Amino acid sequence: MDFTLTQEQRMIHEYGDRISKKFDHDYWRGYANKGEWPAELYGQIASDGFLGLMVPAAYGGSGQGMIEMTLFMEGLANNGIPMLNLVVGPTMTMGLLAKHGSEDMKRRFLPDGCAGKIKFCFAITEPNAGSNSMAITTLAKPDGSGGFRLNGQKVFITDANTADYALVVTRTTRREEVQKKSDGFTLFMVDMKHKGVSKTLIPVSFPVPESQWQVFFDDVPLTQADVLGEVGKGFRILFDTLNPERIILSGLCTGIGRFALKRAVAYANERKLFNNTPIGAYQGIQHPLAIARSEVELASLMALKAAWVFDSGLPAGEFANMAKYAAAEAGIRAVDSSIQVFGGNGFTKEYGMYDLYGLVRLLRTAPLNREMVLNYIGEHVMGLPRSY
Ligand SMILES: Cc1cc2nc3c(=O)[nH]c(=O)nc-3n(C[C@H](O)[C@H](O)[C@H](O)COP(=O)(O)OP(=O)(O)OC[C@H]3O[C@@H](n4cnc5c(N)ncnc54)[C@H](O)[C@@H]3O)c2cc1C
Repeated sequence: MDFTLTQEQRMIHEYGDRISKKFDHDYWRGYANKGEWPAELYGQIASDGFLGLMVPAAYGGSGQGMIEMTLFMEGLANNGIPMLNLVVGPTMTMGLLAKHGSEDMKRRFLPDGCAGKIKFCFAITEPNAGSNSMAITTLAKPDGSGGFRLNGQKVFITDANTADYALVVTRTTRREEVQKKSDGFTLFMVDMKHKGVSKTLIPVSFPVPESQWQVFFDDVPLTQADVLGEVGKGFRILFDTLNPERIILSGLCTGIGRFALKRAVAYANERKLFNNTPIGAYQGIQHPLAIARSEVELASLMALKAAWVFDSGLPAGEFANMAKYAAAEAGIRAVDSSIQVFGGNGFTKEYGMYDLYGLVRLLRTAPLNREMVLNYIGEHVMGLPRSY
């Protein structure tokens, strides 16, 4: 077994070190506080060729995989630039299009997506279904002449305002009418500029550049050319976008954890109290940081394993869920322990440590909450009975 990164992978992981010289954590915070899309940074990432990491060269990408995407995200977050907007577009949508899109669809979306000319969002969550995705009711009803009419409502859709297209999880056959509850799902690429699409902002209470939206579809016409995968069989490919989401967000959490710890260590070495001793010498400060660092590194390893399993074409659910669980918990503990090091300064705008907490804490709840992740591991990995 060889844990060494290739030269290319190292370069991808270290991209965050380089780009943060121009677009640093303060740049990110500025946009996070305004809740605005960091267009210049996104444009730079596009022109440096990193949006298309999971897209074959023939469609404008660089033909890498989930491992490289995870390294890329982690490297940015290591430097305090946790780019949530790289999750729904370049990873979830472009990754799925590259793997399961028709030739026509790949040509339609991928080159412009890689160049940053068009952007994407991903919509599965509904107010009345929540964690129970089987219960979604957004319906793309066949219109009798080969097309569909889309009606329904999605909630918490990240970047719905800046996205040109949404990858929307729908039912084309209602749940009551299918034999197996996972039948009847269809994935569509929906033009967000269509007049039947409307949205309202959901303000969130932590600073992040990406905004969240409730999205309504009112009789939006769709064609067969908008179907990603096969009609009625969307569930079979859905986890080729949901597992990458869990894996890349693991990289985001471990990166934020490392960034917080780096700052905490600098502060703990500097701040001297009692006998002119740096507070970092106290084990009450040092051990929580050392534990957090160990947990972050363990989670990071699991994220890369999950990415490797996904890239190898093997079932990735087990490791993607474990990585997401471990990384969210490690990230939360790392940020929490780091805030403690800063004393009162942990809560000031000047130091900005508390600002990191909301984002990393989100990842215990979304994209799949900790309880559903543990349900999956308990049931599908360990063979325990289902309780819900
Ligand atoms: C900032 C943000 C961004 C998001 N971005 C997107 C996006 O881009 N696209 C998208 O589609 N969705 C997105 N989401 C939605 C997110 O995936 C959901 O909020 C999340 O899956 C939880 O669903 P819910 O909010 O309906 O909670 P619910 O399903 O109502 O669950 C509430 C709580 O109940 C518990 N629970 C639920 N079921 C079980 C069970 N079976 N066993 C034990 N405990 C259980 C869990 O603790 C859970 O946290 C986003 C959410 C947020 C907050």
